[in-house]
Amino acid sequence: MFRQATIAAVFSALAAPAQAEFRFDAAEELQVYVESNLLGIFYHELGHALIDILRLPIFGQEEDAADVLSVFLLDEFYEEEDAIKLAYDTAFGFLGEVQQRGDYDPVYWDVHGPDLQRYFNLVCIFYGADPEGRGDVAEDLGLPEERAEYCDVEYDQAAGSWGAVLDEVYHPDGGQSFRLGEVVVETDGAELTALIVESEIEALNEEFRLPEVLTVSVVPCGQPNAFYDPQYREIVMCTEFADNLADWAPR
Ligand SMILES: [Zn+2]
Repeated sequence: MFRQATIAAVFSALAAPAQAEFRFDAAEELQVYVESNLLGIFYHELGHALIDILRLPIFGQEEDAADVLSVFLLDEFYEEEDAIKLAYDTAFGFLGEVQQRGDYDPVYWDVHGPDLQRYFNLVCIFYGADPEGRGDVAEDLGLPEERAEYCDVEYDQAAGSWGAVLDEVYHPDGGQSFRLGEVVVETDGAELTALIVESEIEALNEEFRLPEVLTVSVVPCGQPNAFYDPQYREIVMCTEFADNLADWAPR
């Protein structure tokens, strides 16, 4: 079942507040970029949630496993044209992070891999899902031959592990286990985040049933972030994230 990747057009008519923040009247390309990255980040947090709720064994960094789910779902949920757009935008999201730090020194102590490595991991798995059809994507995004050669194997591993997990929670009648939590909408960025989260919850409930309820909230956090909180089984999408994405979109 494929989703609509872009809902940008729907929002263009909405009124925007006067702050310097993400606006619904931003250039469509920027809107799509922000949406794509909100989705990519949401799927990453979904990875953390599934690891916790299903008590999945993780051999290696959980952050890497969550990144793998994110790109796996971009490939799995969307039709080719949308999937490619999402892959570009979310890959560029990592470049935006690099740019934001103002230097190219990787943060080796961080629980996440260095951003450029996350970039290439994403590109590799996305390319590996269809090496025949996505050669130009890999080339365009600068995936070196040495890595590209084994990306089909990396994709197979991703599909074998996360695909099996999704099969486990798939239910022909869907379920009600994804639930919208607190939503605080004060900006266009927050509104965009809320709309994406609502439509994702609906889509996930159509196909999947978890053994526990997973809540997704859209609230201000005081910082541009998104995280999964195991104590409340809750994904928190901070409303500041969308503005930050718009500010640091690579140009
Ligand atoms: Zn994470």
